[in-house]
Amino acid sequence: MALIFSRFGSGIMSFAGHMRSSKHAALRTISNCYSLPDTHKMLQKTCREFAEKELQPVAAKFDKEHLFPKEQIKKLGELGLLAVNVSEDAGGAGLDYLAYVIAMEEISRGCASCGCIMSVHSSLYLGAIQQFGTEEQQKKYVNPFVNGDRIGCFALSEPGNGSDASAASTVARLDGDSYVLNGTKAWISNGYEAEAAVVFATTDKSKKHKGLSCFIVPKSIAGFTLGKKEDKLGIRGSSACNLIFEDCRIPKENLLGQEGEGFKIAMMTLDAGRTGIASQALGIAQAALDCAIHYAAQRQAFGASILKLQTIQIKLADMESRIESARLLTWKAASLKDAGQKYTKEAAMAKLVASEAATFVSHQAIQILGGMGYVSDMPAERYYRDARITEIYEGTSEIMRLVIANNLIKEYGL
Ligand SMILES: Cc1cc2nc3c(=O)[nH]c(=O)nc-3n(C[C@H](O)[C@H](O)[C@H](O)COP(=O)(O)OP(=O)(O)OC[C@H]3O[C@@H](n4cnc5c(N)ncnc54)[C@H](O)[C@@H]3O)c2cc1C
Repeated sequence: MALIFSRFGSGIMSFAGHMRSSKHAALRTISNCYSLPDTHKMLQKTCREFAEKELQPVAAKFDKEHLFPKEQIKKLGELGLLAVNVSEDAGGAGLDYLAYVIAMEEISRGCASCGCIMSVHSSLYLGAIQQFGTEEQQKKYVNPFVNGDRIGCFALSEPGNGSDASAASTVARLDGDSYVLNGTKAWISNGYEAEAAVVFATTDKSKKHKGLSCFIVPKSIAGFTLGKKEDKLGIRGSSACNLIFEDCRIPKENLLGQEGEGFKIAMMTLDAGRTGIASQALGIAQAALDCAIHYAAQRQAFGASILKLQTIQIKLADMESRIESARLLTWKAASLKDAGQKYTKEAAMAKLVASEAATFVSHQAIQILGGMGYVSDMPAERYYRDARITEIYEGTSEIMRLVIANNLIKEYGL
């Protein structure tokens, strides 16, 4: 595979080795809030160049035409960017989660729809199977999904419940050597293109969240169909649809983890996912700031560049400050995950702050562009539409505040 760093004349193996030896240095540098280690900087540069060359020029077309960026996703896979933190043995890049969030920010800066596709595939689909799958499941459902030939999706939400994930009404009944799935999962990103799905269903309703289980469902299986493609406000290059299960018979060996472990799998996977969405939000926010500052520099009003106006400068200062605060929280959450520490609260804080920063910054960008911010000739209006989803999926801002407060109260022993 022509992997991430090949253009720098070094194989991925030596970089992964360097990565392992520099992990503690990476944590120290980041906690000092100054800069990234060289490996991460090189990854950031590579992803930025890729996004500027391959994604930015086509992002508006994918958005306008609701087109899945097939060719670009394939290229991301070939570069190793769909499996940044999957082990090299399994065909991934073998880097850490900090590397993943850095890549995610740059890709989303070029195209937020690609960021969504990459995020759902990497942190939710691959992430869940990597962490909880058997060796057999990894061989079948991770290894063939690392190079962009196939992508996966993650199906937790339902028409009747999103925030309250434990209230799943999709059921899985054990029957001989199979589980029989019945029910509908809603809003599933990558649903149209995915070759396999990680699906949550209730195996014992009386146990409430402890009765939720998790399954790997290949697309080709009988009894599994797709609903209509949703017509969305933003991230329109990625699909979202219902997954419908009608007497869908799944082999028993496709149970992920143990029966009743579904809620735990969902929550642990979402900690990682939320950190990834924070970096998607950062990418959108950064793109909006880039657009606003360049526009302000060349736009004249009352005989001078609007960049010289203090009202514009105050906006830019607030935009930059929110982005940088969100970035530090996001890198902190990723670094805690890499260090094997608990990071549920930090992931929720990163997602909350980064998603609200993305909405704020893209809103301000439109204001700085004036009329040009409101039309699709410029990307500011797309950034605004793309930003909005980051406050909703993988847990709304209200749910993030609950998670943060619950953890905080526990920390105080109250
Ligand atoms: C484009 C898109 C892509 C998505 N992709 C996926 C995917 O790939 N996989 C997947 O499983 N799901 C996906 N989702 C679903 C998404 O995660 C849910 O929409 C989200 O979790 C919110 O659930 P809900 O829509 O049912 O809202 P609800 O849970 O009905 O919430 C409605 C409102 O009530 C608030 N609320 C609910 N409970 C509380 C509470 N206890 N305290 C305070 N406020 C509360 C919410 O914050 C929100 O403001 C996607 C959604 C969209 C729109």
